[in-house]
Amino acid sequence: MLGDGSKAVKIHHLVKAPENTPGSVRKRESWDASEPATVYKTPEILPDGTHCTAATVIFRTRGCVWWWKSGCTFCGYFNDVRDDVTADDLFAQWDEAKRRLDDFDGCSMIKVYTSGTFFEDRENPPEWQEAILRETYERGLDLVIEAQAQMCTPEKIAWVAERHPGCTVAIGLEAYDDAVLRFHVNKGFSTKQWHRSIDMLKENGLRVKTYLLFKPPFMSEGDALELTSKWISEVAPYSDDISVNPMNIQRRTIVDRLYRNREYRTPWLWSLVEMLERTHVDITESKARIIVHPTAGGKLRGAHNCGSCDAEVVAAIERYSVSADIREFAGLDCECKGVWRVEVDSDLWLPAPMGTGGYRRGSAVDLARAP
Ligand code: SF4
Ligand SMILES: [Zn+2]
Repeated sequence: MLGDGSKAVKIHHLVKAPENTPGSVRKRESWDASEPATVYKTPEILPDGTHCTAATVIFRTRGCVWWWKSGCTFCGYFNDVRDDVTADDLFAQWDEAKRRLDDFDGCSMIKVYTSGTFFEDRENPPEWQEAILRETYERGLDLVIEAQAQMCTPEKIAWVAERHPGCTVAIGLEAYDDAVLRFHVNKGFSTKQWHRSIDMLKENGLRVKTYLLFKPPFMSEGDALELTSKWISEVAPYSDDISVNPMNIQRRTIVDRLYRNREYRTPWLWSLVEMLERTHVDITESKARIIVHPTAGGKLRGAHNCGSCDAEVVAAIERYSVSADIREFAGLDCECKGVWRVEVDSDLWLPAPMGTGGYRRGSAVDLARAP
């Protein structure tokens, strides 16, 4: 607890270590750079409130500039990128995505994800950025792209707004708290820089989507519930959409190591339900939309409960993201809710910053070895 006098390890070193193992490098170099990482269609809601189908294209890019230098503690995107992706590869991936999704037939919205900042020239060639912005605009597709706050400059945002007016820029704020950004997430920007970036987006008529991360590493369940509920209400007046991503554990990240060491449990689904109930009034008043799609929901590496109620609770959370009707949660119950409640209460009353919860699902033998 007090250390042995040796030099402290920085979060940066913990992040970079797994990225540079021979296994990680081998995996990165095994991908075909002319094919996108993933493409799929999902039901979505357009800015005017109408329901639609959205196409998501996750490109295999050179990755995120922040990753080259340091990186966020939970981000496993480095598993999906290649250092040598060219403009030709990216155009080939775009053509392949259109082929796999029937040229976006029936889609009104498209999400273009690049494991970093879409409009950062060191990550993605400008001629490719321009082609995507223009083509999606000319075809009347509602576009969502992602960015880091510190990559938003007045010139670049104006450049994007000129080529695709009104598109949505999603920024992974993760936490509206500078200490959490620095010591739990290693985000690489501050809340002040986030405010500056969203001012720029608004000035240029672009929409703001804010990602928050539920339960970053080194945080208890109780703190995650209290803090994320507070952050949602605080960022709602500045955001058009808020997407809360409950932690899911991606391979070879810091959270993965904590998890395998039994020092981290992914969030309870009950915490997400309680968070949505607590913030419902603020969200309704602010006119922002809140979206929670628990990735790997119900599985041990995603937000989960006891195993028997998971499917029902995940379904209610997903329905709420579309309907914004708090009655979706009426009548949900299970025996495990009591265990969750005790964990959250203990986290908030006992001096245990990493949490008190001992409950783990799975066979006792497996749990004794690893979760
Ligand atoms: S900014 Fe985004 S892509 Fe880059 S390391 Fe963080 S989470 Fe990953
Ligand atoms: Zn249960």
